[in-house]
Amino acid sequence: MTAKVAHKIVLHFPQQTWDRPIVCMLAKEFDLCFSISKAEITHEEEGLVVLDLSGAESEYKRGIKFLKEQGVRVEPLERDVTRVEAKCTHCGACLAVCPTEALDVDRETWLVSFDPGKCVACELCIAACPPRAMQTAL
Ligand code: SF4
Ligand code: SF4
Repeated sequence: MTAKVAHKIVLHFPQQTWDRPIVCMLAKEFDLCFSISKAEITHEEEGLVVLDLSGAESEYKRGIKFLKEQGVRVEPLERDVTRVEAKCTHCGACLAVCPTEALDVDRETWLVSFDPGKCVACELCIAACPPRAMQTAL
């Protein structure tokens, strides 16, 4: 019996891939099931898609290989981004780069909040954060 696998992954689509139905091909060609939980365009014009992908292990591997051949960068969502609260100076430098508003500012207190539920682990805030408060576990 074929083993089944299911993973939550982040796909990074370069702009030249936007007009291709790459995600649909995962179902059509490899019989994989997918459920998209987030889709955003970053300021660098990269498409970010967070999805649950599942299916037979051998087809899953072929599907991931196909994505990479199309120029799509694939990362596990387990590559979670976190904020070290004690390091955050609420300078706001991360706000301009975050594509999902996971980083947001309270207009009354001017404190910057981080909502991990909205984060797609694009890591753009990591380089943008002067005190290195934004970090990845990996
Ligand atoms: S850039 Fe870093 S220090 Fe500044 S608000 Fe964002 S997380 Fe906090
Ligand atoms: S990694 Fe940073 S910039 Fe990217 S979505 Fe998460 S909080 Fe926003």
